[in-house]
Amino acid sequence: MSDCLFCKIIAGEIPSKKVYEDDQCYAFYDIDPQAPVHFLVIPKAHIGSCGAITEENSVVVGHIFQVISKLTHEMGITDFRVVSNCGEQAGQSVYHLHFHVLSGRDMTWPPG
Ligand code: 5GP
Ligand code: ZN
Repeated sequence: MSDCLFCKIIAGEIPSKKVYEDDQCYAFYDIDPQAPVHFLVIPKAHIGSCGAITEENSVVVGHIFQVISKLTHEMGITDFRVVSNCGEQAGQSVYHLHFHVLSGRDMTWPPG
């Protein structure tokens, strides 16, 4: 999608600090970290949000969670939170599906 910030990051048109990449997904550090560890994992195919996941495009979501498990293991992280904000009221600011991975500090529940 030409006017999508995260599609531009995947294409290398906007620089990012890469954590991991494969044919289906891209992981990179958040520009405004909310925890000592804060990276995002996104599908390479443009999906607008959790609300745009369908039977046809959902395989990548399971793949992303497997990648999150692998990356956190490699980083020695056992305690972490995975968040995906869907829609304005939930705090979504970039409309390309992404999973925040946050770790390294105590976290409260429920989230604000
Ligand atoms: P959301 O608010 O949609 O849940 O999450 C979007 C995230 O993208 C935010 O945490 C924000 O800091 C991050 N972000 C926005 N623009 C950029 C950017 O240009 N580079 C990186 N690395 N992260 C970004
Ligand atoms: Zn996109």
